[in-house]
Amino acid sequence: MNQRYPSALLEKAVNELASLPGVGRKTALRLALYMLRRDMGYTENFAAALVALRRDVKYCKVCHNICDDEVCSICANPGRDHSLVCVVENIKEVMAIENTGQFGGVYHVLGGIISPMDGIGPGDLRIDSLVRRVAEGEVKEIILALSTTMEGDTTNFFIYRKLSGYDVRISVIARGVSIGDEIEYADEITLGRSIVNRTEFKMT
Ligand SMILES: [Zn+2]
Repeated sequence: MNQRYPSALLEKAVNELASLPGVGRKTALRLALYMLRRDMGYTENFAAALVALRRDVKYCKVCHNICDDEVCSICANPGRDHSLVCVVENIKEVMAIENTGQFGGVYHVLGGIISPMDGIGPGDLRIDSLVRRVAEGEVKEIILALSTTMEGDTTNFFIYRKLSGYDVRISVIARGVSIGDEIEYADEITLGRSIVNRTEFKMT
């Protein structure tokens, strides 16, 4: 059933809001009407923050984490253990692990995992730059913290093979913790423990 809007402007705004993941048309309408109730400055700030995010955001040239400078605050911190690199799929996993307060190393954000079904191959991920980091010699251990799915396993195996010629320890976070899409819902104690209790990566 096609909903009738009293204004083409309203309909356009609803269309845009409803294009966001997890936002249905009903919610989109509620949000658009909320904007109309607030003062003009509210919507201007709202829109400006999104435009600035998209236009000005940078990615750390070392670990590909999101940041405002060339290098992120984690990579730039001399207090972190730069010999210990935790490999994650996306930025939200960095945030989740940081929230545990249990990890003192640094990260490497792949930007996804190998998924032939979605057309994502190794070349689409930041694997080469991980190998370069290891080749530089400072990295002593790689912790794989990817999804416990077939795609995650495939990616772990691919990275393991890529790094096989280097003198670097490769471990995986303790299983039993849902990571990937569910990582943000895993409680911090469990997630923190899974990093502390990591085990050596073994091909199965
Ligand atoms: Zn970084």
